[in-house]
Amino acid sequence: MRALRLTAWGEPPTTAEVERPVPRGAEVLVRVEATGLCHSDLHVMGAVPGALPYRLPFTLGHEVAGRIADLGSEADGARVGDRVVLYGPWGCGACDRCATGRDNYCDRRDTLAWHGAGLGRDGGMAEYVLAPSARHLVPIDDLPADQAAPLSDAGLTSYHAVAGLRHTLGKGTTTAVIGVGGLGHLAVQTLRATTESRVLAVDVREDALALADRSGADFGTLVRADTAQVLRARTGGTGVDAVLDFVGTTQTLELAVGVLRPGGELAVVGSGGGRLAVSKPGVLPPGFKFSLPFWGTRPELAEVVALARSGAIHVETERFPLSAASEAIDRLRRGRVRGRAVLVP
Ligand code: NAD
Ligand code: ZN
Ligand code: ZN
Repeated sequence: MRALRLTAWGEPPTTAEVERPVPRGAEVLVRVEATGLCHSDLHVMGAVPGALPYRLPFTLGHEVAGRIADLGSEADGARVGDRVVLYGPWGCGACDRCATGRDNYCDRRDTLAWHGAGLGRDGGMAEYVLAPSARHLVPIDDLPADQAAPLSDAGLTSYHAVAGLRHTLGKGTTTAVIGVGGLGHLAVQTLRATTESRVLAVDVREDALALADRSGADFGTLVRADTAQVLRARTGGTGVDAVLDFVGTTQTLELAVGVLRPGGELAVVGSGGGRLAVSKPGVLPPGFKFSLPFWGTRPELAEVVALARSGAIHVETERFPLSAASEAIDRLRRGRVRGRAVLVP
């Protein structure tokens, strides 16, 4: 089968012919219908040798939807023909986190937990992908594959980040979303669907602000020298209750701190490598709360799928054949993808 393989750190991936995997034990073979291209794929491809605990080569793609094609002899809870989305963080399966579907916070960071499909293990930018067990599959029924695949990361990660803030996002509150790309446009929709907070969107691209508007944001603004004042003015001067940062550079972290009101909360999802100094006294607002949400739980993925099936969230996608993966990657790198790029084998 054809697969998009990462063979060297810092080099573009290459298309190769590899053996179609055969499921053994509890494994489940999924015929891929669509795979999302995440900005994290760019971070993975561009990593310097030794930065990530993954062994090369492997097939990229951690946002995968498809149809179950074959089962290992001990596979339990899956049926050939069922359509599913892969739950991406593959934990050890044994710790108390994994036992409750929170593989994203598996205790065994050293081993299995950071080795999911497309992240050190063969992923979904191929015709078939192996899931280690049916525990990592969530049914999607008739949801179109290009809608379903991005739910497993862009949808789930933003849902999990919003869920972590929900306690503070009642009526009359305001949330700022920085970076309205694959994750951010779903965060805007999730905020609208599951909280009463008003949503202010920030990006460096006009077309991302147009997407924020279509996604239900109340206001959008480009990043400029006075963005913090512009956002504050939208809250009558008090500042926002929460910021979701899908970029994570020092510039966006400082913007977040500059717009939060006292007691406000910053959740950083973007892997931009920025730094924020914590000191008291200092520039952080009193009562400042901070979190680094990572991916999401399996039960939350089922909730995200239900939201999508109800029409409450909708992924804006640009489709590419798997053979045009390099074009999709190039466009994502240049900030030219609207919503999520999805590869179809
Ligand atoms: P994306 O490229 O689709 O979207 C990023 C958006 O941010 C774009 O619209 C871009 O124009 C905008 N942007 C860039 N620089 C900006 C700036 N300085 N200020 C405001 N906006 C800016 O990326 P994505 O796939 O949505 O991923 C977003 C980030 O989240 C990436 O860093 C990715 O690695 C990370 N990520 C984290 C997790 C997690 O679990 N923590 C999961 C998935 C992705
Ligand atoms: Zn991702
Ligand atoms: Zn575990």
